[in-house]
Amino acid sequence: MPEIHEARRRRAQEKIVEVGADAALITSRQNITYLTGLASSNAAVLIPADGAAVLATDSRYALAAERDCPDLELIIERFVETRLATEATTRGMRVVAFEAHEMTVQRHAELTKTLTLVEFGQAIEELRVSKDPTELELIATACRISDQALSDTFRLIRPGLTERALAAALDRRMAELGAARPAFDTIVASGPNGAIPHHSPVDRPLRRGDLITMDFGAMYGGYNADMTRTVALGEPAGWQREIYDLVATAQRAGIDAARPGADVADVDAAARDLIRDAGHDEHFQHGLGHGIGLEVHEAPLMGYGRTGKLGTRVPVTVEPGVYLPGKGGVRIEDVLVTGDSLHLLTKTTRELLVLLAMETFTWPPRTT
Ligand code: ZN
Ligand code: ZN
Repeated sequence: MPEIHEARRRRAQEKIVEVGADAALITSRQNITYLTGLASSNAAVLIPADGAAVLATDSRYALAAERDCPDLELIIERFVETRLATEATTRGMRVVAFEAHEMTVQRHAELTKTLTLVEFGQAIEELRVSKDPTELELIATACRISDQALSDTFRLIRPGLTERALAAALDRRMAELGAARPAFDTIVASGPNGAIPHHSPVDRPLRRGDLITMDFGAMYGGYNADMTRTVALGEPAGWQREIYDLVATAQRAGIDAARPGADVADVDAAARDLIRDAGHDEHFQHGLGHGIGLEVHEAPLMGYGRTGKLGTRVPVTVEPGVYLPGKGGVRIEDVLVTGDSLHLLTKTTRELLVLLAMETFTWPPRTT
């Protein structure tokens, strides 16, 4: 929808004027998608402070660019940044804002031979924080696919199924339900592996008495979901139920605190203080959550040392955990959208699910 992207570029132009530049050279992949609609692994866009933008990408993306960005001047070129720098010079633009967090030192040195580069900061990322209705609908769809894939996969969980097979089943179900791909490498962490927040699934077979943490999400229309559930295989032990209830209570407190106008440090503290008061301070060391959209992790980040206030229409995750080395762990993660009322996009129950499938399972199924 070119008009949405054009409106976003107009907001970007206000930022270009603010930094006193003649133009901005945008090289962040997600920022280019946000401003033009093109998803390309090799593209750059030159946005003048006033006037029409110029998009450069290589021949692999020529057809997609013609289709998705009919309103843009298009240059098909492999060396996109160098070419747009030349275009800027020939069009009389001398001061160009650039994305320091994206450009290599080598490229910067090359471009400063002909241009004066000024830092644009994370101007476009800031525009991306608050989502428009189209974006929220795509994220909601990604979350719906994730919820459904999980609920369809629960029935597979039984002793003998490996972490890797469970992760593959989740990924496959998300694809069947319409996901372009998993938003990130699916995490399945069972038993003692659950103590590792970003464990990569291995061939460990699930066992009775395990807590199993699944952290996964679908990507849909370029936008991401990210959710986590921990389930018990067989009746949970006392310590398992205890940390589950603690994490669930902390997560609810975090969700309730994530309101427009709230300081991100306060949202983090709302959940973290409960975990600390229960004596598990050292067992929860990652941030409480993050913004989500074109990237899985984007602004605003909510954790120690983070500052800033939440706006409206901001999708964020709330994902506290408790990790007991050598024993196991629990994490519960949902995506909510900030606004006047509670708006959760991931809806799978947050009650502890106790799966009682008791027969041993071989995976893949024997064909004989
Ligand atoms: Zn996650
Ligand atoms: Zn997350």
